[in-house]
Amino acid sequence: MADFVDRFSVTGRKALVTGASRGIGAEACRVLADAGADIVAVARDTAALAETKAAVEAKGRRCLVIEADLATVEGGRRAAQQALEAWGTIDILVNNAGMGLAESVLDASMEHFDEVIAINLRAPLLMAQLLAPAMIAQRRGKIINISSQAGVIGLLEHATYAASKGGLNAMTKVMAAELSPHNIQVNTVCPTVIMTPMGEKHWSDPARLDPFLAKVPLGRVGQPIEVADLILFLASSASDLITGDDIMIDGGYTAL
Ligand code: NAP
Repeated sequence: MADFVDRFSVTGRKALVTGASRGIGAEACRVLADAGADIVAVARDTAALAETKAAVEAKGRRCLVIEADLATVEGGRRAAQQALEAWGTIDILVNNAGMGLAESVLDASMEHFDEVIAINLRAPLLMAQLLAPAMIAQRRGKIINISSQAGVIGLLEHATYAASKGGLNAMTKVMAAELSPHNIQVNTVCPTVIMTPMGEKHWSDPARLDPFLAKVPLGRVGQPIEVADLILFLASSASDLITGDDIMIDGGYTAL
């Protein structure tokens, strides 16, 4: 058996990360590159994607930047097609691009609902559908869907977001069941509040954050690198027996 460094390494693998321009996605690109992967970085923000590319290349790995709007089916199709044309296959798909909204059931806007579902739920299905065939051909692949604790419990003011993440958790189990015969593992990562631009926007007000933290056993929020390290584990062969699971990274919040 390979030694532990090899089991936890992704050397020579090709990883496509959506939402790679900032936050968890940008950190995942850096960590996966650090562990040996070449990266396809997908998002819309040109300047921020250039920073991700520079960080990946500083680790000695290749980085292909694809600007695409994953709220549209056309954007997802083009991103997958460009990645496959350039590199032939993707070994690791990280469906991370997402948007969050603080809207209650009574306030939820139907326009926002469609947009959130398109980015958080439809795009992961589309990307998996387009990239899995090349994984099937090589009999190996990893799909990591970035969900949320909001996908498994009822968080106030998360009506639309919860629908998208709960749907992602359910869809992940179907992906895992259908793709297991091809040696493709599919899991979700369900973080608590993580201090990214999204996390700061929603949680920087102590009046909102402090009552929440009082219910978190570890008593703190998370940092992007903590989620990126979990993504690396799920991308590596060390996690080959894990599929169809929702992996909580929440300081114990959902354990209570
Ligand atoms: P973030 O800082 O807001 O970053 C979101 C990323 O998604 C950006 O790279 C953004 O890129 C990309 N994105 C958004 N809309 C897109 C679109 N239409 N097309 C392409 N890319 C798009 O968010 P984050 O906190 O890193 O969140 C990453 C994931 O973790 C999300 O799925 C989120 O739901 C989940 N999550 C976050 C937290 C948290 O507290 N931060 C907690 C639980 C789960 P561009 O703007 O450049 O397109």
